Amino acid sequence: MKVCKFGGSSVANANQFRKVKAIVENDPERKIVITSAAGKEQKSDNKMTDLLYLIHAHLEYSVSYESLFEMVSSKLIGIRNELGLSIQIEEKLDALKKELKKGISKDYLVSRGEYLTALLLADYLGYPFVDASEVICFHYNGNIDMANTEKTLLAKMNEHSRMVIPGFYGCMPDGQIRVMTRGGSDITGSVAARIVNADVYENWTDVSGILMADPRIIDHPKWIDVVTYAELRELSYMGANVLHEDAILPVKEVNIPIIIKNTNAPEDPGTMIVDVVEHDEKKNLITGISGKTDFTSYTMYRQNSSSQVGVLKSALEVFEKYQISVEHVPTGIDNFSIVVSSSAIERCKYEIASNLKIACQCDSVKIAENISLIAIVGRNMASQCGAGGRLFNTLGQHGINIRMISQGSDEISIFVGVENKDFKKAIRVIYDEFC
Ligand code: ASP
Repeated sequence: MKVCKFGGSSVANANQFRKVKAIVENDPERKIVITSAAGKEQKSDNKMTDLLYLIHAHLEYSVSYESLFEMVSSKLIGIRNELGLSIQIEEKLDALKKELKKGISKDYLVSRGEYLTALLLADYLGYPFVDASEVICFHYNGNIDMANTEKTLLAKMNEHSRMVIPGFYGCMPDGQIRVMTRGGSDITGSVAARIVNADVYENWTDVSGILMADPRIIDHPKWIDVVTYAELRELSYMGANVLHEDAILPVKEVNIPIIIKNTNAPEDPGTMIVDVVEHDEKKNLITGISGKTDFTSYTMYRQNSSSQVGVLKSALEVFEKYQISVEHVPTGIDNFSIVVSSSAIERCKYEIASNLKIACQCDSVKIAENISLIAIVGRNMASQCGAGGRLFNTLGQHGINIRMISQGSDEISIFVGVENKDFKKAIRVIYDEFC
């Protein structure tokens, strides 16, 4: 069986609903359908979830929210009318309006985007509607209560063999609705796939998978056909985002593959995310390239720092005190550096430097700004000779100075630090060399 989650753009209007129906009907194994709230039809449009958050803000400050509510209503009523459905969505909207006047929680209000979109989709597909508040259970701390979720969802599966479930929200132990973090429908899909032991978790969106590099830098980069969870973690951390990061663990633990598919081009193969690639026919050295600009490095100069016990710890404690996460720690003999995101130290850049000087008893601390980090990621780099050599050679041949180098211990990623001004050029030359 397949669990399919459709993102907001896949249910943005009646035409998108038609595409979803064709996809679902094309494969009888697509039995559990999770949906986001209706998203943007075009760039200038508004996501229903954003409108609902805005309505709540208006409510809090006693500002009229009528026109926003009207935008939500007309979108839903428009889809219903165009698809010729009989569901009385106006009744639901009227009830919501009454509840709004009485005062409702932000989470409840925002969850109505998924709830109402799922009601329409269930009606259109002819699938039973199962409210997420009945099957997705949270602990009080906001973590998903897997045991209870499993019990209730499997009980529903005994009643119905197919269903539409709204994504993004669930129920607290006291019966209150709680929403997940933004993009949380991905998590609902992943949890459902795990519980019903799906063969695959299909995540339908508006792109044909994950690209090997940022399309704003590389013209028409290639699609990644298969990526491992570990590779995806590296790529996402450095900026390639297609999936909510908490959606990975529930399926990864039980070895269910995720496939990213395009609702607007369902024939495209998409990107498969797996734990281990069993038959890696292509054996590409690189799976993808990602990167981020604007890092700052602090370099501490102290004679023999490499052999002094505890000096690194003292430096790291300074960052801990300021609650700043450390990205990289390149070390030398008489110096070592700590690389952090520039935005994190914006307000305390020099304060940190003087703290470091005292904490590490060093001769001087040098700050270098405008550094970009680029990651080349590839499972096939592990235990293969030459990837690093080719990378450094390529950058050198194109006159790009490497500020730092680091390789993950599992050898699936190599990071290089370059100047911000060389960031795009570096990605382009690496792409041309490896992809
Ligand atoms: N509708 C929610 C959001 O916009 C959740 C989702 O789409 O997954 O974040």
